[in-house]
Amino acid sequence: MSRLIKDPPLPRNYASELLLLDHGKGVHLWDADGNRFLDLGAGIAVNALGYGRRDLARIAARQMKRLVHVSNLYATQPGVDLASRLLSVTRGVGSFAAVQFGSSGTEANEAALKYARLYANKTRGPGHHKILSFTGGFHGRTLGALSVTPNKKYSEPFEPLLPDMVTSRFNDADQMRAVLNEQFAAVIVEVVQGEGGLTCMSSEFAAALNERCRECDVMLIVDEVQTGLGRTGRLFACDHVGLKPDILTLAKPLGGGLPLSATMVPRKINELLQPGDHGSTFGGGPVTCSVAARVLELISDDRFLARVAERAGELAGMLDDLVRSADEIFERRGMGLLQGLVVSAADPAARIAQIMTACREQGVLLLRSSGNVVRIAPPLVIGAGELEKGIAVLRGQLK
Ligand code: PLP
Repeated sequence: MSRLIKDPPLPRNYASELLLLDHGKGVHLWDADGNRFLDLGAGIAVNALGYGRRDLARIAARQMKRLVHVSNLYATQPGVDLASRLLSVTRGVGSFAAVQFGSSGTEANEAALKYARLYANKTRGPGHHKILSFTGGFHGRTLGALSVTPNKKYSEPFEPLLPDMVTSRFNDADQMRAVLNEQFAAVIVEVVQGEGGLTCMSSEFAAALNERCRECDVMLIVDEVQTGLGRTGRLFACDHVGLKPDILTLAKPLGGGLPLSATMVPRKINELLQPGDHGSTFGGGPVTCSVAARVLELISDDRFLARVAERAGELAGMLDDLVRSADEIFERRGMGLLQGLVVSAADPAARIAQIMTACREQGVLLLRSSGNVVRIAPPLVIGAGELEKGIAVLRGQLK
């Protein structure tokens, strides 16, 4: 039986019963009683390099002893080096000139929304501040990001949200074209809807977004908080569909488990910024940045990405088998090592909870996405055999 903690002194927006984890190594976690779990969730797509990384711990400890924090009033070499490295690896993706660091995905998106508004304000004047987002999208839980997350489940208790936020159907190019005009400052979109059920953007929709955003000079913000940095078998998911971001947001895996986000700022916005327009006390500190530099070095290696793509192909094959063999699974969705199985049940949320608990008790941790999708997002370093074992446990629980 797994070691659970009931009613911890944490807010009730988390589950009332949580698995109490103690340590990890590779793709495994152990609870406080020594039970071992194969992790097919990676801390919700964060722990790309797995657990117990001595290399990352050494880098963090060394930097902790030298310098931990300096504020945005000064620079440190790890911050400058990481920004340069991020500009270099995103060269083919967009025309970025600077990196705004933050500490979470939602913060990266807040910065992106603010920069887009600043650009619209300074180039076209007031009244061009609308933001377009899409059904099924998820961009974070702070009020700005929540205002472009058109899912009542997340936002209803906190309404009213920001005004002039518009929603259009994901992957519906005609509707997007009909809605989007010069009154908008930005479009914000994911390539794979990580929280919204793993629906992937079509290449046609990507092309339409590229074209319409250019026509209206509206900033195309691509939220790669969950998909970015190797998860899809390429460094950036937008590369799969030809999407061309003006602003790119990254977070989850970047800091190797430490809190770090990056908003990639285009030259045309950077030129308009004044000191004080934006900032972040903890964003881009030398400890997180020195760890992130190593993470980025490892993940951006072509051989690493090729291995992720290979594992992804194996995972897709295994999940397609489940779609064929399990009556209650009717579809696979996703990209790379970010995959979902759509569950059909009278109460899918309850059924998924049941599947997840049963798998946990068999030593495998899974995630969910939206109401009816089991999500699989293992550490990117998972081996073929480990993946096979994890999916076999899942298979054993499906009807
Ligand atoms: N954007 C996307 C696509 C996400 O998946 C998430 C988190 O799941 C966020 C933004 C918010 O990130 P954070 O929880 O770090 O604020």
